Amino acid sequence: MAKIIIANWKMNPQTLEEAKGLFDAEASEALLHTNLETIICPPFVFIEELAKIDSKHLGAQDIFWKEGGAFTGEISTEMLKNFGVTHALVGHSDRRYVIGESDEMINKKVKAALKADITPVLLVGERNHEDDRAEALDQQLSIDLAGLAGDEISKVLIVYEPVWAISTSDNAQADTPEKTLEAIGIIQKIISEKFQLDYGPVLYGGSVNEKNAADFLKHKDIGGAVIGGASLRKNEFINIMKIVSRI
Ligand code: PEP
Repeated sequence: MAKIIIANWKMNPQTLEEAKGLFDAEASEALLHTNLETIICPPFVFIEELAKIDSKHLGAQDIFWKEGGAFTGEISTEMLKNFGVTHALVGHSDRRYVIGESDEMINKKVKAALKADITPVLLVGERNHEDDRAEALDQQLSIDLAGLAGDEISKVLIVYEPVWAISTSDNAQADTPEKTLEAIGIIQKIISEKFQLDYGPVLYGGSVNEKNAADFLKHKDIGGAVIGGASLRKNEFINIMKIVSRI
């Protein structure tokens, strides 16, 4: 199965010129690695212009679950599809804990993405190092995936992203591949028990960089990575694609 690399630029960069430069370099490199699936998620306002450079590698950082109407500030799946967006992050911890998005809202977003034929990239993971990981994953997955059939869940890209490991968290440190594999086992077990589905590889996110990418992604059950900080460093992100492509 092709490894999946997802760049999450978050609220960066600040100008269209910078966004174009970064995207051009990263998307051009992505085109060279046909054995990888690379998706770049820029801020919404840049998507239209970046789609003119390349519309094969575009993802969104969020979506809204309604198709249109009085929802000030929100963006629909249809609007994104106009520009070739194929993937959308759903349930990122910035949205869960900074914006206050609930699992019920995340569930609606997962369903809206699937309905629009956009791949939802669902991020789950415990908030603090000392939290009960299995309990947090169980709570999130049970609600985030509620009401979905097995064939729908198999279209969701699940990412194990412990919040404490995200590079912008205090004292952040990447998880270890061993602990990540344990977490992936827990995710697969929850999905098997609750949804009777044999779910395959899960992605990892949290301080992935050019030094540790191969340690994680060489494992069959780690299907790819969500990369924040390092995706803003053009050369480092290009190196990560090169390294993962050789695995
Ligand atoms: C993220 O916020 O989704 C993320 C993975 O960030 P970083 O790679 O910077 O830890």
